[in-house]
Amino acid sequence: MNVTFKFFLSLVVSIFCLILSSCELLQPVGNINIEPIALLGDGRSKASLSSHEGVRVTAYVTGWVKAPAKILIDQDSPDLPSQLQSAKWVPSIAYAIHHPEYGVVIMDAGLKRGECDYGLRPFYWVPCRNDVGADLVSQLIRSKVAGEDIIHIIPSHFHGDHISGLGALLAYSDAELLLTQASLDELRSPLRAFSGVPSKMIGKDMKASVIDSRMLEDPLLGQSFDVFSDGSLLLFATPGHSAGHLSALVKTNKNQFLLSFDASHIKENMQLGIPSGASSSPDQALDSLQKLSAIMERINGVKMIYGHEPSQWACVNQSIDLDVLLATC
Ligand SMILES: [Zn+2]
Repeated sequence: MNVTFKFFLSLVVSIFCLILSSCELLQPVGNINIEPIALLGDGRSKASLSSHEGVRVTAYVTGWVKAPAKILIDQDSPDLPSQLQSAKWVPSIAYAIHHPEYGVVIMDAGLKRGECDYGLRPFYWVPCRNDVGADLVSQLIRSKVAGEDIIHIIPSHFHGDHISGLGALLAYSDAELLLTQASLDELRSPLRAFSGVPSKMIGKDMKASVIDSRMLEDPLLGQSFDVFSDGSLLLFATPGHSAGHLSALVKTNKNQFLLSFDASHIKENMQLGIPSGASSSPDQALDSLQKLSAIMERINGVKMIYGHEPSQWACVNQSIDLDVLLATC
């Protein structure tokens, strides 16, 4: 290889890397140590109970992202109203599910502290804004949730607005992640950046367990994983926006909440029956939306908490108990 060719090659690679967000594509993820799943309780689901004394859910608004219209809802649908055809600032939420016996489960990690824009230029770029102290770990500290109180971290999926704070959370807690095999495959894929998984946000080593083989048939949810073996937190697959996407049904002592995450970004996904326009599988995204809709019809009084519906968080500054959100907002 002559010197001129070497120079030309390195120039091309450098420009390529510069364009692709500082070589996002070439960044490795941390070691993902897969461990057998440690079941809580007797391991037998009691999903039929409709309420759970002492279980409560804290929602944390970690910041806001400017989501492109096509990510929020499919722009090719002929039924789309004009007000849904532009980018919107939407909240990025993380949850702490407090169980009186076992401790705290975190679902999603929200946005990291400091500069939080992310993406893969020139393919996509997501502007972001966050207040000082709004990141999940800062809010957990203020809520007096210690790292050792956290028993599991459950990402709904591995897109930037859900795992931007994962590195800080893993530094705060060595809790094991629970994920689907499809999410694990996405994490390990060399093409993960093209499915919206930012490598630089998952650079830390982590312990994880795959839940697929422990899912049981539930009459309402289909295949689901009962995190506490008492029916208070049930995870079920809602693929389509990403291949390994999870939604959750959580029951406090007062209410039942269906956390759709990005299987329904905003209320109009459900109301109009139109899923996100950014999906790993449009057919699966539609199936998942219909599954959520069927669950809503079958569970009396269940409240849907969408992935990014701004109106649901209009009265929330940074954090709120979901039972209080339902009663006051
Ligand atoms: Zn999202």
